Amino acid sequence: MPANVGISLAVGDDGLLKNAPIYLRGADVIRRRDRDPVGGVSTVQSTPAATEHAGEFDCAVVIPAAGCMCKQVEVVIPQLRDADCLVVVWNGPRATTHDCSETVLRDGTTVWMEFPARLGAATARNSGVQWLNGRARLIAFVDSDDIAYDNWLSELRKRLSSGESDVVGGVLEFVSGGRARRVAPDLDFWYRQAIYGSNCAVTREAWDLLSGFCPNVGTCEDTDLAWRAGEAGLRIDIIPTAVVRYSLRIGWAEWQQRVMWGRSSVALLRAHDLPLSRHLPKLKGLVLHKRSTGFASNALVAGLGQFFGQWVGKLRDGHPAPM
Ligand SMILES: [Zn+2]
Repeated sequence: MPANVGISLAVGDDGLLKNAPIYLRGADVIRRRDRDPVGGVSTVQSTPAATEHAGEFDCAVVIPAAGCMCKQVEVVIPQLRDADCLVVVWNGPRATTHDCSETVLRDGTTVWMEFPARLGAATARNSGVQWLNGRARLIAFVDSDDIAYDNWLSELRKRLSSGESDVVGGVLEFVSGGRARRVAPDLDFWYRQAIYGSNCAVTREAWDLLSGFCPNVGTCEDTDLAWRAGEAGLRIDIIPTAVVRYSLRIGWAEWQQRVMWGRSSVALLRAHDLPLSRHLPKLKGLVLHKRSTGFASNALVAGLGQFFGQWVGKLRDGHPAPM
């Protein structure tokens, strides 16, 4: 492994990094022991190409990860151009089978940030962008457990690079009922255009205007970002040719995910002052929607889970915990 440069960072209540980066030269990365109530502290390692990069990055890809992201990283790194970089934000316990940081730091312009506690996707992505310190003209996001098409990044960046769009969202491809389907983000909850956080990109100016993802709307941070972008008058475009293969969860994992989506949708609607009675889907609508789009391994489990989550969200105040 190359001699890396470590940085120690902490996350604040707002999901953003609190302190300025402290650069630690040498092969050893110092792990701070003091803990923050939200996210704890992180260590950062980067390849020499990332450390020594002068000036701006053209495009930075940020991947939040709480599980192995090696396959995703292996398809994303070849898509990076000379002035691009990859930032992986690991949050939570390390994988026991292998060291995923070795895949990230093998070569190229890459950064490995590691937080000991789960941050949730919003805070993890914000932390990755904060490391960039405003140096990336474009910022793209993809998730750890999906697989991007080979042309994903080039398709996603086109309209941002040309200045035609401020925020772009790609589509998800998944296999359901034995056939491959693609789903594009649509108007969510009969309100505004959404994007998928696992397949989207923004300009630096749009990111600064929006102050990143909001960590207080559970797993609806992507819809929230798109809605706020729309409310701010930013140009959002869906790119059907920017495709990520999405891994549908199955059984109990699907139920848990949909419960969280349901809870998060209540937090999202409340954050935007939208009446739940008008914008929250009914059980029948949820199940039928999952069935018609195929965006579930089991439409009934998914629909019931999301409906149960909505019910929990309506009963309980506060924000859904990171997952
Ligand atoms: Zn791995």
